[in-house]
Amino acid sequence: MTKRLDHFIAGEHVAPAAGEYFASTNPATLEVLYEAARGGAEDIDRAVSAARRTFESEGWRRLSATRRGHLLRRLGDLIGEHAEELALLESRDNGKLLREMRGQMQNLPEYYWYYAGLADKVQGSQIPATSVDILNYTQREPLGVVGAITPWNSPLTLTTSKIAPALAAGNTVVIKPSEYTSRTVLRLAELAAEAGFPAGAINVVTGLGAEAGAALVSHRDLAKISFTGSTLTGARIAAEAASRFIGCTLELGGKSPNIVFDDANVANAAMGVIAGIYAAAGQTCIAGSRVFAHRAVYDELLERVTERAASIRIGDPLLAETELGPLAFEAQLAKVDSYVRLGAEEGATVLAGGRRPEVDLPGYFYSPTVLTDVDNSMRVVREEIFGPVAAIMPFDDEDELVGLANDTEFGLAAGVWTQNLARAHRLARRLDAGTIWVNTYRAMSPMSPRQGFKSSGVGIEHGIESMHEYTRLKSVWINTDEGPVADPFVMRG
Ligand code: NAD
Repeated sequence: MTKRLDHFIAGEHVAPAAGEYFASTNPATLEVLYEAARGGAEDIDRAVSAARRTFESEGWRRLSATRRGHLLRRLGDLIGEHAEELALLESRDNGKLLREMRGQMQNLPEYYWYYAGLADKVQGSQIPATSVDILNYTQREPLGVVGAITPWNSPLTLTTSKIAPALAAGNTVVIKPSEYTSRTVLRLAELAAEAGFPAGAINVVTGLGAEAGAALVSHRDLAKISFTGSTLTGARIAAEAASRFIGCTLELGGKSPNIVFDDANVANAAMGVIAGIYAAAGQTCIAGSRVFAHRAVYDELLERVTERAASIRIGDPLLAETELGPLAFEAQLAKVDSYVRLGAEEGATVLAGGRRPEVDLPGYFYSPTVLTDVDNSMRVVREEIFGPVAAIMPFDDEDELVGLANDTEFGLAAGVWTQNLARAHRLARRLDAGTIWVNTYRAMSPMSPRQGFKSSGVGIEHGIESMHEYTRLKSVWINTDEGPVADPFVMRG
């Protein structure tokens, strides 16, 4: 019988109130891996209530910030010890290369260690007073129960970007992972219990977005929602949060430009373009899906990218030699393929890929694809495809390029390949995106804050700034003068 996974609430595995489960499939082999609990409003209420009880408990409130940091450090250690197990579970669940997931898991403890170190540095400040008798200071307080809703492409990393700063700041959390990847987030909750987090500090309710996700966002006791996913869902969540005046952090979609100037090292740039769009089969929010190449290097770049794209080894994500795994689920494959067809109808040339490759596994594989003869008026250039599809376009000068690169509803990231230092800094200023990479792509660190501009998001993840997003700031005014308080209706001379 297929293995069944229950919610994790108040330190225990809890069966879904409605008794229903849904299947999760390996996208490379199409085998059913497990069934996860299909959560609904009742399960969410149970989880939020548990998180609230823990938040208000003496045990959690009296735990010093340094000790809270210690719990996070211990959780990071445990993740490091279980990196191989977690990488395998995640690769089976979402089809991403085992070696990429292994890299992510080996790196993940650093997120917990970073926020462990910050936990006892959440502090306010003393404000210059309006009078010598007034002491005015600020203090940062945790918000309460934070809801975290995450996608399937990097389940544990994206969950960690939310819960590590939220817990460091003293909140408790309820996580609703993607319905495509429930497994590792449940495992994370078990490891957190092992690390010593009190029951109810970290809860997981699995299920569908429209059911468990929507119930979490609309729960009356939720103090904040932190979401990573599509722009469409983000807009719905922002509207719900706004209606109840609760905060939200949203990390959404992208259509990032990867720009190659004529003074770039073109061989390096070609590698950066390939890494930007074909890593993780293009299923990353920061995918460099719009490639702009200066006309003087356009042909050379195109040749290098198409040549390498054609030789990328596609297959079983668990094998060390595989360079590209499948897309994560059937609808994702259909979406990517339909965008490529649409591009061709719009007049694009499909220079490489654009089809399902020969692979001796039945999964949702798609060839690395290059589209040319494209421009900013086409949907394949304007909309997020979330697959291994690069639209490559020439440009003639820097001003034109800046106009083209910024002509998008998104603003998540941008890559610039140039050996001109002044140009690098100039472009970093002129490009309308929250992360700019020069002569590199996809670099990320828990220490470096990132923010999506325009339709790519609201709020900041990573860095000390992110931890502040999980606090509220209180201003305290104290009159240190114990003398008589003047009658407010007697005019002072
Ligand atoms: P999605 O919006 O479909 O789902 C994301 C999560 O939201 C899932 O857990 C889903 O169950 C839940 N959800 C769906 N509908 C909901 C609703 N009405 N109420 C509450 N929750 C709901 O996105 P996806 O397909 O899982 O992920 C891919 C998207 O995520 C892409 O657009 C990608 O760019 C984006 N993404 C962004 C970042 C970033 O940091 N900016 C990182 C990774 C992925």
